[in-house]
Amino acid sequence: MTPKAPMLSVQEALGFLLTAARPVTETQVVPTLEGTGRVLAADQRSQLDVPPMDNTQMDGYAVRSADCVSGNASLRVAQRIPAGHVGQPLEAGTAARIFTGALIPEGADAVVMQEQCSFDQASGLVTISHTPQSGEWIRRAGEDIRAGSTILPAGTRLRAQELGLLASVGLASLPVFRRLRVAVFFTGDELTMPGEPLKPGAIYNSNRFMLRGLLDHLGCDVTDLGNVPDSLDATREALRQAASGHDLIVTSGGVSVGEEDHVKPAVEAEGRLNLWQIAIKPGKPLAFGEVGQGERPAFFVGLPGNPVSSFVTFLLFVRPFILALQGAQPSNPPRFPMRADFSWPKADRRNEFLRVRINEQQGLSLFPNQSSGVLTSTVWGDGLVDNPPGQTIAPGDTVHFIPFSELLY
Ligand code: AMP
Ligand code: MG
Repeated sequence: MTPKAPMLSVQEALGFLLTAARPVTETQVVPTLEGTGRVLAADQRSQLDVPPMDNTQMDGYAVRSADCVSGNASLRVAQRIPAGHVGQPLEAGTAARIFTGALIPEGADAVVMQEQCSFDQASGLVTISHTPQSGEWIRRAGEDIRAGSTILPAGTRLRAQELGLLASVGLASLPVFRRLRVAVFFTGDELTMPGEPLKPGAIYNSNRFMLRGLLDHLGCDVTDLGNVPDSLDATREALRQAASGHDLIVTSGGVSVGEEDHVKPAVEAEGRLNLWQIAIKPGKPLAFGEVGQGERPAFFVGLPGNPVSSFVTFLLFVRPFILALQGAQPSNPPRFPMRADFSWPKADRRNEFLRVRINEQQGLSLFPNQSSGVLTSTVWGDGLVDNPPGQTIAPGDTVHFIPFSELLY
């Protein structure tokens, strides 16, 4: 595709990426405790009811509700049942002292919370100043999960809450897809690592830190080949190294068509380049292709060098692409309708993603400098306004807001 080809829309480019994605197929078994960020390779079923048996939600007294209809019943406390212990069948006219999580003894059908009871040590009687409904404060067996049910489907990416759910049915280990192997490098003669002095004309390589953070967050195995000078040979050499043993290569910089932009010809020499211009701002140039020969060439995504462009295009394109490669279900991030408390008088023919913050009036404020080099906007902002091509914004207009939290978990 030449740079003069019509620009792809954001949705077209994303669709193209997701169609091209070949998910990882190799699986492994990991301890549930180490499952954070992994993707389930098979449906997970529960072998048991959760909770396994009826138990109490409160500290109090387990009773037969029929014994308490007077509203002022006096019952002999015949037993004590802490959590983790099994009581005796509850005889009529007696109560069991019971503690949160303990099994309801046979015969009891309600729990009265201790605040509604008074126990007399001398007589061993408890007075119940409440008329419980049958079932009150009882968590029923299977009320969370039924034995035999599927609790999570294959393709689920595991967050803290999924791991808790899997552990609650007793699963000690999980079948997951292997981690995605991602190689990264950064083009630009100007790039310097923090910790080194800045020479005239140089800048620190911020993309390296940002992209590493994003890839770590997505649970990728990252090989970082570091800074690569602006030369065709060096870029080709880096691509060859990156292609070996990796599923995906992500780079930043050098994807425009200037004399110092070597990524396009380098990828064309070492593989295939499929995609070039997207109607998106920030981030118009985005290179997509494959590098290497054989069964499994590595996918290649070349992000623009400008840090905000890199960040936004990663979130909108690379993140869903990675999720698809990992075997997960990449869902479209939700766009919430919100009020713009700013004006954006100049329409752009590209789909803009503006950095905004939720203000105290529950509207959106715009970061004053929307330049693609100003990383401060990404830290100041709570998310992006997805502004369609050709659209101006006046204060009070409803816009589509994507919180960073939907793009960064
Ligand atoms: P390029 O896409 O290579 O034309 O770079 C566009 C702009 O982004 C230039 O101002 C570069 O100096 C800057 N840039 C490129 N790579 C990085 C990086 N890794 N970290 C920070 N800025 C970068
Ligand atoms: Mg450059």
